Formats: sequence, C-alpha cells, structure tokens
Amino acid sequence: MARRKLIAGNWKMNGLRTDSAALISGLLSRRASESDFDADMLVCPPATLLDRVGQRLAGSPILLGAQDCHAEQTGAFTGDVSAAMIKDIGASHVIVGHSERRALHHESNALIRAKADAALAVGLTAIVCVGESEPERRAGRACDVVCSQLSGSIPGGAAPETLVVAYEPIWAIGSGRIPTADEVMEIHATLRRCLREAMGSPASGVRILYGGSVKPSNAREFLALPDVDGCLVGGASLDADEFWAIALASQGLPA
Ligand code: PEP
Repeated sequence: MARRKLIAGNWKMNGLRTDSAALISGLLSRRASESDFDADMLVCPPATLLDRVGQRLAGSPILLGAQDCHAEQTGAFTGDVSAAMIKDIGASHVIVGHSERRALHHESNALIRAKADAALAVGLTAIVCVGESEPERRAGRACDVVCSQLSGSIPGGAAPETLVVAYEPIWAIGSGRIPTADEVMEIHATLRRCLREAMGSPASGVRILYGGSVKPSNAREFLALPDVDGCLVGGASLDADEFWAIALASQGLPA
C-alpha cells in the first residue's frame, strides 16, 4: 500500500512567540514555492505556542500537532493538557510516548496507550514513539524492546488515519549518532510485523517514521529505505532551512 510521507518536527521545550513567527513564515514561504510537493508536513510546538502557530498555519497545508496529552479529557490534573484541548485548538496530531517522557516522566506503555486512546477519542492522530536504549541494542534486544513497547501502546481501534509510529533509538536522539540503514530496516520491518499482529491488514497503511539526529545530510538515505514513511525531527526542525531541506529529501529532491 502506498503511504504518503510525513515529515514531522518536534520543537520540544523550545520556542518563544517571536522565534516561532519567523520559523513558521519561513516554512510557509518555502512550502508555497514548491507546488509539486507531495508529502505531509507537521510541526509540534510546545503547548504555549499551539494557538499562535495554529493561527499562522490555518488554511495552509502544514499540519499542527502537540507533544503530549493527558489520558483524561478534563479534571483535576494541574499543569496537564488534554487531547480535547489540543483538538479544540485546531491540531490534528499528538505525539505520545516520546522517550524523554518515558524516561523523565516514568511513562509506562499502559499510560501511553491510554493517552493514545484519549487522542483517538477526540479525532486526533496519535504518533506513538518507541525506541531502544544503547545497552538494549548492545544486548541484541532492540527488536524485542520496540515490539513490546508498540504492542503495549497501540490504541484500541487504531487505523492508518489515526495512528503513526515513530522509531527513535534513544541513543540517536540529539546525539549526532545514527543507526545503519540495515538496523533501521530491521526495526521498521519488525514494527510492521508487530502492527500486523495487533491490527491485521490495516497495518500496511500505518506510517512508520524514523527519528534520531535526522539532518539534511542524512535524510535522503533514511527516506529512501523501504518501510520508512517519513521522519520525526527534533533539533533540525527548529531551523526553517534545515527542516525544509529534510522535507525536500522526502521528494528525492536536493536541498
Ligand atoms: C526527537 O526528539 O524526537 C528527535 C528525533 O530529536 P533529534 O532530531 O534532535 O535527534
């Protein structure tokens, strides 16, 4: 099944109002100049900027996503943001289970599944992140680890329109180190198998992204691999030239 590429930017805890205005204008003008561009682009700013960025993106082909949501839609959860609120602001996607949340906020697969369920319940697409640590890879456990993370985190009733999976080896995030093409292909094939076991034939339509130190210099190589349906980009998504160059790589075009 043909899957449209998705180039997603995770700004993490970066961005003030002025930076975001320049970044979004830069992306919108580049995107407008490439009429044949045929991939989805998504930006996931911090919660404080969702409204502002959403207003700038309204009517444009660039999608808006959040970086996390709570598993409940309302209630006494000080400081949290619900999927219903994210939907209300005009976003279409939410990242759940990023390794920084799994590690720093001790999020379990069960919690991530509950967050993904909450996202689907209000009509958002959940981007479920999985990835092994360096010791797990060294111990030859990478495939088992990502498969068990994914099986434990897939929301009920997931479909290709409502679920995206992001493979992000923890040791590659923000480190400048990247896995080999064979390592990425092995994991993506494992994730596809794992999706098939959980969802049956619709699994073939679910996009699986690669994330971890994606830059303009390496994006083309990742995006040409079978079963790599796009990228989740951290640091390089904060620079319009770099993020756009990665998006162009999804079209096989030079930066
Ligand atoms: C990320 O945090 O999702 C990520 C992939 O970061 P970076 O691209 O900076 O490695």
